[in-house]
Amino acid sequence: MNNKTLLQIVKDFGNPIYIYDADTIASQYKRLTKAFGKVKQLRVNYAVKALSNISILKLFNSLGSGLDTVSIQEVRLGLKAGFKPEDIIYTPNGVSLEEIEAVTKLGVQINIDNLSILEQFGTKHPNVPVCIRINPHVMAGGNTNISVGHIDSKFGISIHQIPLLLRIVENTKMNINGIHMHTGSDILDIDVFLYASEILFETAKNFKDLEFIDFGSGFKVPYRAGDIETNIEELGQKLSKRFNEFCTEYGRDLTLAFEPGKFLVSEAGLFLAKVNAVKQTTSTVFAQIDSGFNHLIRPMLYGSQHEIINISNPKGRERFYSVVGYICETDTFANNRRINEINEGDILCFKNAGAYCYSMASNYNSRYRPAEVLIYKSKPQLIRKRETFEDILNNQVEITI
Ligand SMILES: *Cc1c(COP(=O)(O)O)cnc(C)c1O
Repeated sequence: MNNKTLLQIVKDFGNPIYIYDADTIASQYKRLTKAFGKVKQLRVNYAVKALSNISILKLFNSLGSGLDTVSIQEVRLGLKAGFKPEDIIYTPNGVSLEEIEAVTKLGVQINIDNLSILEQFGTKHPNVPVCIRINPHVMAGGNTNISVGHIDSKFGISIHQIPLLLRIVENTKMNINGIHMHTGSDILDIDVFLYASEILFETAKNFKDLEFIDFGSGFKVPYRAGDIETNIEELGQKLSKRFNEFCTEYGRDLTLAFEPGKFLVSEAGLFLAKVNAVKQTTSTVFAQIDSGFNHLIRPMLYGSQHEIINISNPKGRERFYSVVGYICETDTFANNRRINEINEGDILCFKNAGAYCYSMASNYNSRYRPAEVLIYKSKPQLIRKRETFEDILNNQVEITI
């Protein structure tokens, strides 16, 4: 996407705006499937929560992907996008037994991560095949909010509880058809991932009727030049080899599953916003844009450093800016960042805005959520309208006062 195209999209659809590139999503999907090409049965389930627009889900369906969902609403979006129930896995945490039963009725693969729920579910529905989410207690992940494998984590069934898990399965006669782990986002070290996989293989030996082993996700993507990223090709080579060996040991070909979100959509997304004002203070120069953490919360929530470029003046001399929003509390996107000279009215482009950006947007400060555009077959197409004042009032009930 060149700057001219991007500026034209802003002209046509307004700002601020999210723009996604379908070709980039497709090439990341293919990169992952190619890295695991030596595995006989591979399943990639796109993690819907990263970017849940129905047109994006339809794109994944066309690529042959499955879906990883964490709520019944995501399951319903997936079905509406044309996915078959058997191509969807539901991996909730802390939801009610009622919701799990409702998803079961939709024909979707259930993944349970709690022994109490497992016992209740197995007692009532012994014939429904269930996957179990194991916590291998391996520290992975770039930020404490996204590391989910540690001992204090609320996710998964601890490997130390396997004896009780086995007793529940035996007592209820339920059928365990899958084993799963997801140890957190931003895995840097392949060896740590492989180590956790060994724990999963060891656990898998306890179950005779497995169909798949799901290794979750957490692949790290680069945010700036020089950033470390998960080496997917190396992981693919090493894990595929171990997985194939395990299948031989196990005596049956199993499916190797992954459920990436960020890896598949992060780089495909850009966020564009206009500079409302340039404000010089005693200590810095602020570039104030027509957005805030209501549209893109990752810098404030996770400390993520999105690359920012001035597409209106890409050849301007570089100066230092703090890029901030219009929310009435601190909403800093970048501190002291070198950017090509910014003038009021310029359009700034945030990179890596595909994952956990629009999907975490809100109406805070009663602002509208942005529009979303997908470039599909070289053509920019609106996939979500910008909100209007009616949307802000929608569902509010005015009483007589
Ligand atoms: C969020 C989540 C993912 C996706 O993680 P990424 O870091 O975006 O790849 C996968 N599986 C589960 C269970 C999740 O909660």
